[in-house]
Amino acid sequence: MIDFRSDTVTKPTQKMRHAMANAQVGDDVYGDDPTVNMLENKAAERFGFEAALFTSSGTQANLVGLLAHCERGDEYIVGQDAHTYKYEGGGAAVLGSIQPQPLQNESDGTIDLVRAKAAIKPHDFHFAKSKLFSLENTIGGKVLPMDYLQEAKVFAKENGLRIHMDGARLMNASVALEIDAKEIVQGFDSFSLCLSKGLCAPVGSLLIGSHDFISRARRWRKVVGGGMRQAGILAAAGIIAMEEMVERLGEDHDNAVYLAKELNLLEGFHVKEVQTNIVFAHTSGIDTQALQHFLKEQGILISTGYTLRFVTHKDVSKQDVTTLVENIKTFLHVRK
Ligand SMILES: *Cc1c(COP(=O)(O)O)cnc(C)c1O
Repeated sequence: MIDFRSDTVTKPTQKMRHAMANAQVGDDVYGDDPTVNMLENKAAERFGFEAALFTSSGTQANLVGLLAHCERGDEYIVGQDAHTYKYEGGGAAVLGSIQPQPLQNESDGTIDLVRAKAAIKPHDFHFAKSKLFSLENTIGGKVLPMDYLQEAKVFAKENGLRIHMDGARLMNASVALEIDAKEIVQGFDSFSLCLSKGLCAPVGSLLIGSHDFISRARRWRKVVGGGMRQAGILAAAGIIAMEEMVERLGEDHDNAVYLAKELNLLEGFHVKEVQTNIVFAHTSGIDTQALQHFLKEQGILISTGYTLRFVTHKDVSKQDVTTLVENIKTFLHVRK
């Protein structure tokens, strides 16, 4: 199967499997797993923060981050399209009694700061307490501009909000901007980073922030059942993901641009700008369900919804992109 559904489908590399098989492990709930400790220490240092926490998923990293920032009755300001708000089962509200204040994302993925300001609640017992501003980078494959991040940090500071970045695909932003990820997250109170998407680790994310923040998050990780034992087996792959799998993301971006260009040559397909590894294609006059079904029979998996979504990653090559395009052409031809 050639799988364009997501970069989460990437398989661990041989080097990762070797490192996993040979990892030194201990009981991480006791803080005894040397490989988890190594990953957390390396991550904190890599990004210029005090501490890091290895979590079982990106959802869990964001959740325990929100729980560590906000208390019952607090609220966080977040994009309407943000993963934490839209695609994580409402965890902050469900498990943390944290009220989300969703705001529309602009077409570039940012949240308008004038509108964010207007959404901050007065200090009055009628209202939830506005505590946190949360951004996502990349969001829908789009990279938040660096000057916007600067303004957002100033906005948060001036208004007494903490600021979090859901950086599941932070490294894609870094590669696209040719700016070290450290600079992108600098000045944020916390961020999450997914190791198991384009970076190819089998499982795991990181939450990164101050010592105090991470110790609160560590407690919440245990509460939500995320205290893992000999997790060094997983962290071993995570170290390789963080240290060795970043540069190659550029190939995924190139393949995404190539795919977008090819799709734009086809009647009924329209792809706007592609910045990283996610291609959204708007279609007209095409039965996308039938296309998805047809491609599946040819051994190609894609996502359909409001648009078609194709994600490029380590386990799809440029040749696979060509195969996809050829098969779409065949579909269009046959259906005529
Ligand atoms: C994938 C993703 C997550 C969640 O990661 P899981 O490991 O699937 O729980 C969070 N935020 C963003 C932006 C993501 O793309």
